[in-house]
This record gives sequence, structure tokens and C-alpha cells, in this order.
Amino acid sequence: MEKLDKTIRTRIAPSPTGDPHVGTLRTALFNYFVAKQGGGNFALRVEDTDKTREVPGSLEKIYESLEWIGVFPDEGMKYGGDFGPYLQSKRLDLYQRYANDLLEKGYAYYCFCTPQRLTNLREEQEKNHLPPRYDSHCLKLDKDEAASRAKNEQYVIRLKVPEDEVIKFNDAIKGEIEINSNEVDDQVLMKSDGYPTYHLAVVIDDHLMKISHVIRGEEWISSTPKHILLYRYFGWDLPVFAHLPLILNTDRSKLAKRHNNTSVLYYKVEQGYHPGAMCHFMMFMGWTPKEVKECYMLSDFAKDFSLDRVGASPAIFDIAKLNSLSHLYFVSEDIEKLTQDFIDWISDSRHKKSNVEKEFMKLKNETPQLCKAMLEVVRSRCNTLLEMSVGIEKFFNLIPKLVLDDLTLDTKINIANAIHSIEVINSAIAKMDVTRLPENSAARISWLTDYFRSKQPAHLSGRDYLHPTRVAITGERVSMNMFEYLSVFLLKKDGKKEIISRLSDAKKLLENN
Ligand code: GLU
Ligand code: ZN
Repeated sequence: MEKLDKTIRTRIAPSPTGDPHVGTLRTALFNYFVAKQGGGNFALRVEDTDKTREVPGSLEKIYESLEWIGVFPDEGMKYGGDFGPYLQSKRLDLYQRYANDLLEKGYAYYCFCTPQRLTNLREEQEKNHLPPRYDSHCLKLDKDEAASRAKNEQYVIRLKVPEDEVIKFNDAIKGEIEINSNEVDDQVLMKSDGYPTYHLAVVIDDHLMKISHVIRGEEWISSTPKHILLYRYFGWDLPVFAHLPLILNTDRSKLAKRHNNTSVLYYKVEQGYHPGAMCHFMMFMGWTPKEVKECYMLSDFAKDFSLDRVGASPAIFDIAKLNSLSHLYFVSEDIEKLTQDFIDWISDSRHKKSNVEKEFMKLKNETPQLCKAMLEVVRSRCNTLLEMSVGIEKFFNLIPKLVLDDLTLDTKINIANAIHSIEVINSAIAKMDVTRLPENSAARISWLTDYFRSKQPAHLSGRDYLHPTRVAITGERVSMNMFEYLSVFLLKKDGKKEIISRLSDAKKLLENN
């Protein structure tokens, strides 16, 4: 590849048309790491030439999505840089100038066709099962005559496409690609509103911004021949083209909302996935490293990533994989950081706070240790911040009603033994100085485990000893580890009191049975 000795510069060029798509995130990541590896810059250019599709606020969401996973572009409206403006609507003069240049050289032409004529043409083609294409009608117009008509009439400017030529390019991922020019439309380059189309603007900007690698989704392959013609007409060198494989649902249908949410902010704001996991997940949409690591830092990707290990076949968006990665990243997170991230996530104004979350926010200053302890315990069973938020619920209120059946069910439980064990545990708790419990969550759990085990009466089995108490306190017969639970609950202001009265209730219930 003759470009590799030059400075590597990459970009993403999203349009501000709504919530940022996960596919854009993947494209951004691949571009970012190619730039980082080559010691070059990664730019964010905004392609806002289709004013009808623009959605206010989109730009901020693009920044937010990228920054969430740690990608800060080197250049862009928000980030500065020497190749601006990075917003296409601020570059209109430029496009006009280059379009005029093409007209002069005969590489583009004025088209005055009315919408009605174009509609008739399309309908005719449809009827004859032909692909919808402009018929080069206005190419036959006299050049000077057309130029003077353009002073008074509405027009667009179209690309002149040579007849029957094989346009070839070498894609860094897909290999050699050939498209016959007869399949290429005389693309509109300048619209009647004075805005360029994507095709003209993208080529001019990539050239002027000295982009060395155009890395984008596979859906742009069919546009590439148009771009190649433009590079040729302008006399510019081609960048390296690399088209990333499609992203599909697990049933191999095209990634769409119906199966998986496609908005990056759904994963950030609504679910609270781990950004490191999201990055990891997206990086594996097409790329296979030489050696797979369990967790990656951004710097690992910068080191390991390479375009020639990106495959051409479709990538699968498997949410189960994202879940397990997110779990893995959360459990290995520093607990202080996780607690802060959880608080930030709850504080997002777009997030509707649950009652438990409101309680949590109150506690975060009063008893920060309690907040950390809750997350420390629940994260071992959660994949997302949302799941953690549901998980901590049980630490706020004991389940409202004790049921005898639950206390005695699925054990051939001996009531006398159950009463005895509850007494033992209750008095052990009563004697405990909770202010002196170990600070560290794991240490606290193991201290409690040892403490209660040391009180276990010799004639009771482990199960007889712990089961009734666990049910009485946690309301759960199986899944919950009682020592973990107590390690959190006893940090609550009246936690000890609540547990003691709870166990007394349980005892009464058993006695009156
Ligand atoms: N504006 C295009 C998009 O929305 C950019 C495509 C490209 O990277 O050339 O994805
Ligand atoms: Zn025309």
C-alpha cells in the first residue's frame, strides 16, 4: 500500500440524524485505533448537508457516545484542529467552487429535469424491471446554453459517468472490487438548494483534510466508484478504502431495532452497560486479535488492533456476549469507581429515578460505606447498572411478610431446632459491635461467616442452623448468601435493630405454629 509511509489520518463522518447508531461507534473505534497506531489524528466531521433529515441535539449525542467509551477525537468542532471547519454546512463555498471546476472541465453537467420528468422516468423503468437510473438526458445540452439557463432556472449538477468502464479498487478488507460504470448513476453532486450531496462533499473533505484511510461500513461500497471518479476528475490520489463487514442479529437478519436496540445511548443511559465492555464488544465486530485477552484497556487495542485482521464476513451482534463482558468488566472494577459511576448514572437527568435510587442518593453522603457494600455484593450477579439498581432494592426494606411455609418449606425441618438456631443467631447478633466490623467488604463477609460458624451448636447440621434464619432475614430460600446479606444490612443505621426484631418475629411464628 503506497500510502503507508504518509501520515495516517482517519475520520468518522456521521450525519446528525438522531441517536448515534452502534454501527457508528464501531466505525469510530476502528478509525480511532488505526490513527493511534500510526501516530496520526482521528477527526470527527459532521455531514449535515441533508437539512431535511437533521435532528437537533444529535451532535451532542455523538460526542457523548464516543466519550463514554473513552474515544476523544483529535479534531472536530468541539476538539479543534487545523483542517476545519468540521461541519459541512460551513463549507458550502468550497463545494460550489469545486463543482464549478468540474462543470468547466466537462466532468459534471447541469440538469434541469423537473421532478415530474424524473418520476415518469422512474415509473417507466420500474415497469420494465430496470434499475432506477437517470438517463443522462441533460448531458446532451449545449454547455454554454446550459450555463446561461442556470442563471434563471432551477438546476442540479450531475456527475458525468463514463460508459462501460470497469471501475476497480483495492479494498483493505474486502480485497479487489470491480464495478461496471454502467451500474453507476449520474449522481447529483449539487442540489437545487445549493447544498452538495454526500458524494461530492465527502470526496472534497477527505482530500482537503488529508484523510489517508477511509474506513466505513460496507453499505458505502456501492458509492465508492462515484468517489473514485471524482478523485480522478480532480486529479487527486486515492485514500486507502476499507469497508467494515455488516453487523447482523443472531438470526443473521440485518441489525435492526426489532431485535436489538441500535442506539448507543440505550446501552449507556437506559441499561448502564460497562463502557469498557461495550468497547470490547464493538471491537470484536469484525476484528479477531492474534491472542484474545479477557479484558482490554484502550491502550491494549491501540497496540493489538490491525486492519488486516478484520474479516470480510458479517459480524454478529450477540447481546448475551455483551452481557457477559459487561459483568466481567464490572466485577473487576475498582469499587470506589463503580460507586461513583453508579451515582453518575442515576444522576443523569434523562434517567427516571426509582424510589430505591432516591434512597441510595440520600445515603451516599451519610453512609458511603453502605453504598459501596451494596454494590460490592450485588455486582457479582449483575451485568448492568440497571440490574444493580434492582438488586440493591432488598437492602432497603426487609420483605414485608414472614410466612411460616417459607421458613419450614423443603426441609424436613425440625421446629424445635429452628427455634433454637434462631435464638443462637439472634443473640450472636445482639452481642455484636457493628461499628467494629471490618471495613473491607470481603473481609467483613468472611469475619461474619467465621463468627456465626463459631456459634453453631454441635447438634445442628449446617443447614438446620442457617436455613430458617436466612429465610427469615432475606426472604429467599436459596440464592442469597446470608453472610453477604448481613455484611451489608448491618451497616445500615438501624440495620441491627431491624434484623433482631425480624428474627424475634420469626421465632414467634414458629412457636405459635
Ligand atoms: N455521512 C456518512 C454516514 O452518515 C459518512 C459515510 C462515510 O464515512 O463516507 O455514515
Ligand atoms: Zn436533466
